[in-house]
Parts: sequence; structure tokens; C-alpha cells
Amino acid sequence: MIRAIDVHTHVFNLKYLPVAAILDRSGLFNLPGDLARALAKAALALTKDDPTLDDVSSAGPSPGRASEAAAEAQVDAGVKEIEFGLADFGSYLDSKEEELPDWVREDEDVRSALESPGAELSRSGVGEGTLRRLVAAAEAFLGNARQRLKWVFVVATQSERAIVRRMITTYGGDVETFVHHMMNMASFYREGETVYPPHPRQVNRMRKLGEAYPGRLITFTAWDPFGDHPDQLEAVKDAVTNRGARGVKIYPPSGYRPIGNGPDNRHPHVSSPAPEEIDRRNLALFRWCVDEGVPVFTHCTDEGFEAYVDAGELNASPEYWRRLLASEGMAELKLCLGHAGGDAWFGTDAEFNCSFAADVVRLCTDSRFPNVCCEFGILDHVQDQAQFNRVRDRLGAIVAEQPGFGSRILYGSDWHMLFMRSGHEEFFRNYKRLFADPVLARHSENFFRGNAVRYLERQ
Ligand SMILES: [Zn+2]
Repeated sequence: MIRAIDVHTHVFNLKYLPVAAILDRSGLFNLPGDLARALAKAALALTKDDPTLDDVSSAGPSPGRASEAAAEAQVDAGVKEIEFGLADFGSYLDSKEEELPDWVREDEDVRSALESPGAELSRSGVGEGTLRRLVAAAEAFLGNARQRLKWVFVVATQSERAIVRRMITTYGGDVETFVHHMMNMASFYREGETVYPPHPRQVNRMRKLGEAYPGRLITFTAWDPFGDHPDQLEAVKDAVTNRGARGVKIYPPSGYRPIGNGPDNRHPHVSSPAPEEIDRRNLALFRWCVDEGVPVFTHCTDEGFEAYVDAGELNASPEYWRRLLASEGMAELKLCLGHAGGDAWFGTDAEFNCSFAADVVRLCTDSRFPNVCCEFGILDHVQDQAQFNRVRDRLGAIVAEQPGFGSRILYGSDWHMLFMRSGHEEFFRNYKRLFADPVLARHSENFFRGNAVRYLERQ
């Protein structure tokens, strides 16, 4: 049996993310601002803090009574903020039933997530009722989006260890090693601050977490070309050189391209460096990655956490990576194109041919760029038989014509983002079935493991 590597996972919780900004402006949630803020405050107040993942030096007092008191103060502060947030949209809530939506009542996971921390919250006078009303209000806006709310409350409020345990329980029988990617979103949202600052605290916590699961968890640190420079570049170098990070995550839907930034993609909501300056900073990072053999992982589909409308479409195209790779000294960059260009893999030929996905295939089979590859995270349409057949035939035709593509495809899931999709537990098994197809089977070992080993090793 192949011990697979999943090159695309996330094991952070809400303390690593600008929660209000994501719930508000991102295409994934898009809630009214006041509701997003209140829900974010509630969710953050419920998010577990695991003080054992902090170095004593960066966390202050060691775990014990002091940190318990701090945790309690944090809950109290969270409750006060919830009350404040509720005041903003009280009139909306007044017009709504205070009943929990049926799915919350019926769902064991959600109920326990809501009820046990609810008891904690009620110590300070705001009980479960507040939270229930928030969830009910959010559901009213999100419609059929219970799986996304479940992600917020059931997965993303847990401690990092609990998140890793959940991932290993679901996939650990098939997947040996999980690659975790950080996000660094602070500079791209007006309310972008996170509870844990990205560097060095998030990186340190992930290093400790990785030490608790030897051989099973690898971390990529995240890049921010808008923040203070050269500090940001130094932070990435420090994370990779001294703090156990294996590679660097790039997230163009935050509002930047790897190269080719210009007046047409100026970020509309936050102040940003001049386009040439963003290019210059990115080039300095990628130059270092080429010199040191450090792998780069990019989000490559037009969907995701977009910092503004169409930021993915505008910035995440493989075309910008082609331009980067074609610039001087960049051809050897180790680059993995996350999501392999996106859902067009399951579309008609006409849809596929003019998509990011077709560009991804072209880039991965361009002999000038020996270290470019792609992975299939969150592309879960394989669970539908007609779409399964379509991607099987499409991939089969590509590797029949260009066998080299078989050494450029990697298994990735994008768990725990994948948790937002129903049927997520079957993701690995569906891909296993796909690569059992006679044409694809000869690439199976490479897809699930070999290509990832080559991508992840430092040269
Ligand atoms: Zn992801």
C-alpha cells in the first residue's frame, strides 16, 4: 500500500486568521459587516488556546494558574465584545426566531461544540442563547450553507492538536504525511490582525505541533509582499532556516501577482506598495527560493478567500507564473500550482481549454521549467460518477499524449477547507479509485507519493 503524502492541508484555527474580515468580505461567506463581526467575536471567544504550543520565551508565564486566569479573561473579553457586536444588529435579531435551526439541533458535532463552550460563556452572563441567535442569523443569510458554519464552529474553533487528530482520524490510515500551509492575510484586509501574529509566533507553534507528530506534519510559512520590508523577507528566511518551515505559501487572491503587478490590480481596500515594488519584493523572495531549493506553493484557481471581488481571477492566473519562470534565473523554481487551476477539470472541453487548468497543464509540460507541478486539493467533484468519468478521461488523454505530466501531479486535499463540502471524508478514496483506472494506474505511486517527495526535498 502506498503511504500517501497530502501536500495541501491546513491545521490552523481561527486565532491564525483575520476572522471578521473573512466572514465579511470573502466570497466564501460574504455576511453583512455587523453580523460578521459579532460572529467572529463569538467564534474567537470559543476558539481553544493551547499554551503548550508557545515557547516559554514568546508566551510569557509558563502554563498553570496564570494562563488559566488569562484564558478566563479572554473569554470575558470575548463575551463583552459579543454583546457589543450584538448591539450593532439587534434590530435584525429582534425580527427573527430565537430557535436554533434544525440542522444545529440535529447535529451531534455542532451541538457539542455549541453547548460545552456555551457553558463557559454563560459564566459571564451571556449564555448559549447569544451564540444560538448568531448562528441562526448567519444561517438565515447563508441559506444552504450549514457545512460552512460547521467548519467555523466544529473545526476552526478547536486547538491545533484537536484539528490534527481529526485529520489523522479521517485520513491517517492512507496518508502518512500532511503538508500544512499557513496564511498571512493581515496586510490585505482592513481588519486583518490575527490573535497569533504570523511571525514568529504562528511559525513557532507549528514547529512544536510538528514535533508532536514526528514525520506526519510539515509546515509551509506564508508570504506577505505588502507588509514591512525587508522584514517580511527576513521572516520567511528565518522560518525556513531556523524554525522548521519547509517551504513558502503564496496567496494571490489576497491581491497580488507573483510578477506583473500593475495599475489594473491595485488593491482597492488597503494601501499597498507601488506595483514595481511588489514585483521587486517577490523577485527577491523567489530568487532566494531558487538559490536554496526551497519549494513554493501557490493557490491557483479563481476562487477562494478573495480580499476583494474577482481578486482570484485577476491575480491567480498561471500566466503570471509563466512570466515569472521565464524571467532570468527563475526557470528552476520549485513551484506547485494548488488546485491545478480549478473546477474546469470537470467542465466541457470548451470550458477546460480556455481555463486556468489548461494553462496549468501547459506550464507543467513546458520543458524549460523542470520543477513545476500541480495538486488537486478541494476538487471534490470526483464524488459524482459523471464528473469522475470526465476527469478520468481528460487526465488519461493528457498523460497518454504527454507521459511527463504524470511526474508533475500531486495528491492534495485542502483539508480542513475541504470540510466545508459534504462528502469530504471520501476525498482520498475517490482519488484512489481514479488512479486505479488502467491508464492512470502507472502514475499512481508518483501521484500519491513520489512526486511529492521530489517536490519537498531541498536540493
Ligand atoms: Zn488551501
